[in-house]
Order: sequence, then C-alpha cells, then structure tokens
Amino acid sequence: MRGQMMPNDLLISDLLEHAVRNHAQQQIISRRLDGRIVRHSFHEFAQRCRQLAGVLQDLDVRVGDRIATLAWNTHRHLEAYYAISGIGAIVHTVNPRLFAHQIEYILQHAEDRILFVDISFIAMVEAMLPRLPRIEHVIALSDWGDKPQGERWLCYEGLLSDQPAHFAWPRFDAQTAAALCYTSGTTGQPKGVLYSHSSTLLHAMAACRADAIGIGPDSVIMPVVPMFHVCAWGVPYAALMAGARLILPGAALDGAALSELIQSEGCNIALGVPTVWMGLLAHLRQHGQRLTSLQRVVIGGSAAPLAMIREFDQVHAAFVMHAWGMTEMSPLGSTNTPTPELLALPAEERYQRQLSQGRAVFGLHMEIFHEDGQAMPHDGQAYGHLKVRGPWVLAHYYRSDVPATQDGWFDTGDIASIDAQGYMRIVDRAKDLIKSGGEWISSIDLENAALGFPGVREACVIGIAHPRWEERPLMLVIAESTPLDIAGLRQYLQNQVARWWLPDSILEVSELPHTATGKLSKLTLRAHYADYYQDLIT
Ligand code: AMP
Repeated sequence: MRGQMMPNDLLISDLLEHAVRNHAQQQIISRRLDGRIVRHSFHEFAQRCRQLAGVLQDLDVRVGDRIATLAWNTHRHLEAYYAISGIGAIVHTVNPRLFAHQIEYILQHAEDRILFVDISFIAMVEAMLPRLPRIEHVIALSDWGDKPQGERWLCYEGLLSDQPAHFAWPRFDAQTAAALCYTSGTTGQPKGVLYSHSSTLLHAMAACRADAIGIGPDSVIMPVVPMFHVCAWGVPYAALMAGARLILPGAALDGAALSELIQSEGCNIALGVPTVWMGLLAHLRQHGQRLTSLQRVVIGGSAAPLAMIREFDQVHAAFVMHAWGMTEMSPLGSTNTPTPELLALPAEERYQRQLSQGRAVFGLHMEIFHEDGQAMPHDGQAYGHLKVRGPWVLAHYYRSDVPATQDGWFDTGDIASIDAQGYMRIVDRAKDLIKSGGEWISSIDLENAALGFPGVREACVIGIAHPRWEERPLMLVIAESTPLDIAGLRQYLQNQVARWWLPDSILEVSELPHTATGKLSKLTLRAHYADYYQDLIT
C-alpha cells in the first residue's frame, strides 16, 4: 500500500518565499568588489530576485536553459542563484580560477545561453567571447552603465531597475535541474554534475541540522568557500532555509580582509578550505589579534591539519568542525559535529578526534570496500575504497550516457576507515597513497605531522618512483620564515610516524601549486619530481 501524503514538489522558489515570510528582516551582508559593504533584508533580496526573474523571462530564458556565472560570493551572485533556478533554468557556476581553455570548454559543453560576469573577469571574458557564439548575452554584475561596449553586453543594475518587484514563480517537477557545477578536472576534462531542486533542498535541510553543520536563526554564517565551488557547500540555500544572517565576503579572501569582516559582522560560523585558514591564522598571529565572535570553523576540501585545529581552539576559542564531501555529492557527506563526549575530552585527545572527517549526515550512506568488492569492518583500522549513496549523490555526469555507478554506490576515489561509532577518517586520495615495499603510506598523515613542527607553513608529500621500494615519499615544505631547520623537522617526524614512513628527502620550496579549488596539485608535483629518487641513487 502506498502512502497517501502529498507529493514532494518543493522548489527553490519555495525556499526563497519561505525565508521572506518568516525572516523578512534577516540580513544578507555582501562585500562588493570595491570593498563597500551592502546590506539587504531577506525582503529586499527577494524583491531583487523577482526583478531578475523578470529580466530573464524578458530575455526569453526557458526551463532547462543553462545560465552561467563567473562571480565571487556577493549578493548579486546569490540573486542569480535564486532567480535562475526559480524560473526553472539552471544556474551554472563556473570556477574563474580554472585555465581559460578549461573555462571555454565548460561554457561550450554546457551550451550556456547567458553569462553573468563580475567586473574582475570582464577582460578574460572579452578575450574568449569570439569563440563562444552560443552565448547570447553577457551581463556585467555592475552598477548602472558600467560595462564594456558591444551588443552582447548588458548591465545588471540597469536591467533590474526596469522590472517590477512582483513575479509569479512557475511550478514544475522538483526533479527538474536547478544548478550545474563542473569538477575541477585534475585528470581529463572537467565533468558536469547537475543538481535538482529536490536534491538541493534535501541537502540544505541535512546541512542545517544540529547534528550536521548546525545552522539556525542565531547563526551569522560566512561561506568563504566560493559560490563557484559546489554552490559554496550549499550554504546559500541552508542559510535562507534556517533564517540565518549570511555574510558574503566578495573577492578579498586574504587574512586581513577576512579577519576584519568576521570581527565587524560578528560572524560565528565560517566555512572554507584549509589554505584560506592558513592565510587568516598567519595574519592574526603576525598582528597578535584574537577573534572573539567565531565559534565554529567548518573545514573541508582537504584535510584540516592538527596544528590548525589546535590554534583555532587555543587562541580563538573556535571549534574546528571537519566536514567531508565532493562536487558529486552536493557536496556534504560527513561532519565532525561537537558532541558532549567529544567536548569533555582533554584538549589534545579531542584534537586527535577532530582529525576524523566525522559521521555521515542523515540521508547519506557511506561504506568502505576492499578491492575485491567486499565491505570492510568498521573497526577504525581497516581501510578501503569509500563509496556513498543518497538522494544528493550523482547518478550520471552531465551529458554522459554512462552511469556514474555500476553497483548503486558512487566511488569517491578516497581511501578511508570507519570506526564502530561511524566516524570516518580519510587516509588519502586513492591516487595519492604511497606504496612503499608493498605497504601503504598516507601522504595526508605525513603532511599533518610536518605541520606540527614550528616554522612549517605548508607541507606536501608525494610518492615518487624508487628503484628499490617501488615508491618512496618526498616531502616539500614551505617555511614560515626561512631557512627551516630540516634536520630538526626530520628528528621531529621520527616521533610522529613509523620510521619507514620518513620521507627519503625533505625539500624546502618557496611555493606549492594548488588546483582551482585550493587543493595541493600533486599531479603537477609528481610530474615535476618524477625522477628525483632515480637521479639521486644513480
Ligand atoms: P571536490 O569535488 O573538489 O570538492 O573534491 C572532493 C575531494 O576533496 C574528496 O573526494 C576528498 O578527496 C577531498 N576532501 C574533501 N573534504 C575533505 C576533508 N575534510 N579531508 C580530506 N579530504 C577532503
């Protein structure tokens, strides 16, 4: 017998109207690219979204059309999110940090009809437009008249000012596509992941929960993670759903700009990748400043180092909540939410536990598998291929006929362990694990250990071909201030990891390459140092 309740037809426009009805005076604080802060109540914000929906309708945008954005975290970008999805079109966020040829590929592959562009990317877009004939209009996210000449160019505020503040949102099936995000494509071409209204709203509900990120009307939340990276981890939806105050930091993501915004706006939850927090902590250390409002720092995208967890707690009284996920998962999979048991532990023991990427959020199922396909024990020791399934996990890549899963599970490409309480720990990306003499070494654990040594700002460990051991680790470090005591670091590592894990060489470097989503670009480094041990030995 089937249940007799109403069908799920919740749309992103319902979320917007819910936010206005219930939290009309809550604020969205946005730092423009010129540094000015603008504030909109949810009421004003929704009016602007409805005006933009009117603009899109006048431009003949239809259900299913792809509309791209190349933009920072600002109120205009957020308006594009809601207005585009609200009329049944697809907001396609493009990562401006990708190479120009990748951006062109993505815009062509998605067949975008309109492109919204922040003024910092105008020159880049002007250069590629001749090769993008499908793009009918480019809307500069700018004030009146502030746009390049050319018939395809339009100005955002000019368009909005001509529209009424009312708009009747259309109704359609909740499985309709709402947003499109491409993976960063470190191997091969970037691939598109197409989120639906239903998956987006379920994901936002899961993210808000007290046992996940914990977002509510008392939250003052700042996604430092860009809105072009997996929809800023769903915060643009979750914040409005929860009636939270939302801070959008614009383009200035350096330590000084972030600390100023956190303090002046009383931000209590901030989310981002470790590299962003490295910059913030270095700035605060240098100026002897303490953050007073921040309670929770949600760190994902790469592993949060122990030293960072410790510093946020001891200096700023902020809890680092590790979160894990990926573009193919909308992205949230697990969070290490503080529990009474965790908070009662002695500090150092607690920090160790905070290194775990946490437990699955409700709705997401995760399991570890052996190469042979057998599920592995949840004993915190055994590790295997981490696979997931759930209503916000990808089934097909965009415009691909091949299912992204054969067995009903999506293979994340990560290697992990899970303990008896469900806490998952990422050991490494499968392709970054180092195989030495038939045994595995975790590059993440080695990096984490190095970051505990005073004076190490960033560390990267890669597996390099070795004539005797198959592969051996090579460690590259950036020092806080040069020169670094490499012998001291080696000595220190001996007490942190098994002896046979010790990198054969530790090299001090002045910079490390990062991908467009802020991860260490190990592919580039592996290619660069491919023969390092070979040459050293022969
Ligand atoms: P992306 O699709 O760009 O968000 O990248 C997803 C990948 O980032 C995951 O498969 C993990 O390898 C990595 N990742 C995400 N969050 C974490 C985390 N908290 N700790 C370690 N790795 C992470």
